[in-house]
Amino acid sequence: MVAAHRNLQGIGSLLIMNSPSPSRPALSVDAARQAILGALAPVTGWECVHLRAALGRVLAREVVAPCDVPAHDNSAMDGYAVRFGDLAPSGSTTLAVVGTAMAGQPFSGLVGVGQAVRVMTGAVMPRDADCVVIQEVVERHGDEVRVPAGQRRGQNLRRAGEDLAAGGVALAAGKALGPAEIGLLASLGVGEVAVRRRLRVAFFSTGDELASIGQALAPGQIYDSNRYTLFGALTRLGCELLDMGVVPDEPGTLEAALRQASEQADVILTSGGVSVGEADYIKDVMGRLGEVAFWKIEIKPGRPMAFGRVGSAWLFGLPGNPVAVLVTFYQFVQDALLHLMGVSPLPARPLLPARSLGRLRKIPGRREFLRGRLTPQADGWAVEVAGAQGSGILRSMSDANCFIVLEETRGDVAAGDLVQVQLFDGLV
Ligand code: AMP
Ligand code: MG
Repeated sequence: MVAAHRNLQGIGSLLIMNSPSPSRPALSVDAARQAILGALAPVTGWECVHLRAALGRVLAREVVAPCDVPAHDNSAMDGYAVRFGDLAPSGSTTLAVVGTAMAGQPFSGLVGVGQAVRVMTGAVMPRDADCVVIQEVVERHGDEVRVPAGQRRGQNLRRAGEDLAAGGVALAAGKALGPAEIGLLASLGVGEVAVRRRLRVAFFSTGDELASIGQALAPGQIYDSNRYTLFGALTRLGCELLDMGVVPDEPGTLEAALRQASEQADVILTSGGVSVGEADYIKDVMGRLGEVAFWKIEIKPGRPMAFGRVGSAWLFGLPGNPVAVLVTFYQFVQDALLHLMGVSPLPARPLLPARSLGRLRKIPGRREFLRGRLTPQADGWAVEVAGAQGSGILRSMSDANCFIVLEETRGDVAAGDLVQVQLFDGLV
């Protein structure tokens, strides 16, 4: 697997070690994000695909407009194309209607002095006309039209190339192609584009307690949900998935799974087994097979999240708790994957102020992500927590529409205080 990457040793001031030490300090959320993004370099492979297949992919090369859009000066309204110079400065002007131009059916003659051409939206502007008067303001009598005063030169026209000019960059490399971009490329007549190859992501869940769907639950077992959550998040990002199932808490089996994943994928995501419990082997195995850059972050939920490398694959050892999986995925993994996919610049993740409807407990020193419901109020946006906030309570994610982001320096929040929220919409 040839994944383009820089060596972990390049990560800022972080000490890279082969075995995780419990005494290593936790990183701030921002430092962890920076370290991750600084270590990764986008995949270099690319392919040409048909326009429709390019939806959700990332442009590998800029697209230069092969033609003007629109291709001709054309009318923006239904009305009459006239010569502005023919119009009386005050009072109305009567002009002779000498023809009609529709979208796709141009008027082939010239517009002479004192003449007008009936035009529909999208019709090519007849030669020598420089202004469109909307039909609602004129009076039409037979072959004559009376135009009132108060028109402007160039009004109601769409100029050739005003959307995209031939020879200009229509879309830059690194652009993720959504519906608008697919439509824009179609407007240029572009039927194929060069996109980066898909990112290959292997993922598995760890834990002796995990049963897969379809199995009866033995005493003490729970269904594995993390693999399904990750399936959803990764599918939305357009990754190629390698679902490796559930791996038990056994170092030898974990090592074999990580080795196999590293041979087949650019990125490996695991969940569980990354904390300091007796069955938490991910960091040790990762250290043996590759490198652990860090595994403690000043965040709640999600404090134990390991980042590093196994072979040439990047590894994110996500926590086991289902909410912590999603929080760490959105705060660290998603942008890392987008960066690897070649997306540039990364999308902004705006924080918006909202009034807290309730009191919130908060311990200074770490960034906390509560699941919130943002609602409009008479005096602006307000937010409340979406049910119980335990890091195992996945319903809090499903009931929420935003994260309430409580910054490191913050203590308890009183009802009525302003807090910052990050909308779920647009996260994936
Ligand atoms: P761990 O980090 O492995 O100690 O797991 C922390 C908590 O998350 C434990 O309660 C686990 O049972 C739970 N957990 C771990 N993996 C999963 C999973 N794939 N699906 C649902 N819950 C999980
Ligand atoms: Mg576990």
